[in-house]
Amino acid sequence: MQQQAERAPEQTVLLLFRKDLRLDDNPALLAALQAAKHVVPVFIWSPEEEGQFQPGRCSRWWLKQSLAALSAQLAALGSRLIIRRGQACVEALLQLVRETGAAAVFFNHLFDPISLVRDHDMKQQLTEAGAVCRSYNADLLYEPWTVLDSNGEPFTTFMSFWQQLQAMPQQPPVPWPPPAALPAVDPDLHSDNLDVLPFFASREQEQATGQLSSKWSPGCEGGAARMEEFIQQQLQHFSHRKANVDRCVCSRLSPWIRVGSISMRRIYHRVLTKQAEWAAAAAAAGGGGGGDDHASSCRDFMQQLAYREYSRYLSFHFPFMHERPLLSHLRCVPWNLDQHAFKAWKMGMTGYPLIDAAMKQLWSTGWMHNRLRVVCGVFAVKYLLLPWQWGLKHYWDQLLDADLESDALGWQYVSGCMVDAPPFGQLMDIPAEAASFDPDGEFVRRWLPVLARLPTQHVHAPWTAPQEVLDAADMELGFNYPFPIVTQEDAAARLASAAAVIEASLQQLDQQQEQQAPPLQQQQQLVSRQPYRPSTEPVQSYSRAHHTAAAAAAEHMRQQHSNVKLDSPPHQQPGIGAAGDGEAFGAGAAPAGAADTAAEVQLSGIQAAAAAAAGPGALGQQQQDGLWQQQALQNDVHLRQRQQQHRHQQLQQRLWHQQQRQHRPSSHKRRRQGSQEQHHRGGGPGLAGDGQQQQQQEWEQQQRQQAWMSQLFGQ
Ligand SMILES: Cc1cc2nc3c(=O)[nH]c(=O)nc-3n(C[C@H](O)[C@H](O)[C@H](O)COP(=O)(O)OP(=O)(O)OC[C@H]3O[C@@H](n4cnc5c(N)ncnc54)[C@H](O)[C@@H]3O)c2cc1C
Repeated sequence: MQQQAERAPEQTVLLLFRKDLRLDDNPALLAALQAAKHVVPVFIWSPEEEGQFQPGRCSRWWLKQSLAALSAQLAALGSRLIIRRGQACVEALLQLVRETGAAAVFFNHLFDPISLVRDHDMKQQLTEAGAVCRSYNADLLYEPWTVLDSNGEPFTTFMSFWQQLQAMPQQPPVPWPPPAALPAVDPDLHSDNLDVLPFFASREQEQATGQLSSKWSPGCEGGAARMEEFIQQQLQHFSHRKANVDRCVCSRLSPWIRVGSISMRRIYHRVLTKQAEWAAAAAAAGGGGGGDDHASSCRDFMQQLAYREYSRYLSFHFPFMHERPLLSHLRCVPWNLDQHAFKAWKMGMTGYPLIDAAMKQLWSTGWMHNRLRVVCGVFAVKYLLLPWQWGLKHYWDQLLDADLESDALGWQYVSGCMVDAPPFGQLMDIPAEAASFDPDGEFVRRWLPVLARLPTQHVHAPWTAPQEVLDAADMELGFNYPFPIVTQEDAAARLASAAAVIEASLQQLDQQQEQQAPPLQQQQQLVSRQPYRPSTEPVQSYSRAHHTAAAAAAEHMRQQHSNVKLDSPPHQQPGIGAAGDGEAFGAGAAPAGAADTAAEVQLSGIQAAAAAAAGPGALGQQQQDGLWQQQALQNDVHLRQRQQQHRHQQLQQRLWHQQQRQHRPSSHKRRRQGSQEQHHRGGGPGLAGDGQQQQQQEWEQQQRQQAWMSQLFGQ
């Protein structure tokens, strides 16, 4: 305590760790070291704050192990991780500010809707308590407000987003190394013991995670080792073999990425380096040596990283996507709220072997291949007509890499709620998909030993096997393996009638669009006449007020950070007390997005939401509701227009492609030409920058479109 008294208070910064559990490439840590003499690393365990999205069993295990690894790393550099248990993160931080006399709290941004609101409030409260609050980007290659279309609006198709990433004027910054040493933390400062902290709901739950440590090694070292292993041994085969669910060459890096044990920038630059090595080796070998394959594997892998960026991007711009469909007319799907079907799906008892094997793998290990996540998701939504939010929550509870933005992106996609997703009414042929992902049936046989003796041609559809084949395999359908819970024909009929309900609601929406800019009150009536089934919402759903607050928080964050130069390291940005995030929350500052009441009708989109969230002082309740509904209507119309444009573009591309096919050289020759052009020009800026000529670009775009569709949906 004596040491504490001697310190100048403004020289202490609290460094809050959340999903950035690493010391290298951690901008908040670097900024804290630049700004203050004493840095106190802090982790607050407050799962209740996450509402229904508290971590599940496997992700709790991963988090605990990662914290232990971080704690050891900090200790090795002379510091100490202060762990506190709290109902609310901000309360624990305020307590720590009082105990340490810290002048500032630094942390890295999060982009999920729950964190957006919490961090906004946290900054406000800490600033009111006199502490400066600053946050940085450690999570993304490009922050969401830097990737916009020519109208300054967010992209709503993955391909347009991906193309923009490749055309960005700056490469993502090179990752910073970890510090060589860290300032000591006051030994009297209390920290809860990680081993006795109630991380799990029960002792049994903790014991059930025992097997995980034999397969995974959480923490920065484990993440770096896995990345190297993947890059050296599997990346080169990524394009060809990523779809095989049994002999997968995927990186399996997602659990490390989720808690930030490894940074996206580190992975990105490591892949670029490897790509350059391969290109040099191929050039030295006179153009052979698999240079094209390696390049396409690197590009495909970069595209996977871009999906993650896209999930945060959409979550930031549409911060309701974890609970509501992006295409809002899909809120009126007549779901089949059947708990028995839901349980059969969760337990892997549907009678469709690939689904059952994958769901058992998830239940047992917390892991599932991306393709299986898609196929099982499609089965739940389109075969069983279960609300996608149920599936999202189940994945969230079970996955080792549970991540709200990626989970929401996946479920929006499988349920047809996105402009570039297969439409809701399109059914997938599950046995055919199974035969392409698991051609030898090895995966299914491993997880469903009862099917082990079935011949391969029946292993994905045992109901098609003749009786003598079933007898020879010791199988009795309905006894030791279930009949299909629903036949494909019944599923198709049920989906078609659900799609008809949606079509009816679309027609209603079209009628609304035809009406020429109705006044606000009339729009409110139109929105409220839309079919809406509140019973399909998850029980503990966040209210729409939360979505509005998240939109306001996102807008505030964008305003605060869009002026900061993208690649300037934290030490070149304003220090404590200079103009930064914290000042926006000072006592005299206007609340985020507070708007002049008289001008409210002119506000559009997110600004309107921000104004609505500023509270009853700024706008009346009815006006807030009106603005919110107006925004929902605008979003919906906007997204639907984009969907139409996108489908039109797809059609044009297909026609163009058909015409070009006759005049094109063989694909091998074309790739050679492409890579030679690329070699002569040198790489441009942006993600894996290309800068190819118009024709080549269009053709590439078509290829990427197909790759994206087949990667996520196998079609
Ligand atoms: C319905 C559904 C739910 C999903 N839920 C999650 C989730 O909770 N957490 C999660 O991390 N991923 C989720 N994904 C995305 C994807 O399945 C996983 O990221 C991927 O399987 C992780 O394996 P990997 O690390 O070997 O990926 P790789 O193929 O090696 O890709 C490398 C990295 O890119 C990112 N990535 C790849 N594909 C996607 C994608 N489609 N969306 C977002 N990021 C991607 C991941 O960070 C991944 O680690 C979900 C996908 C679907 C369809």
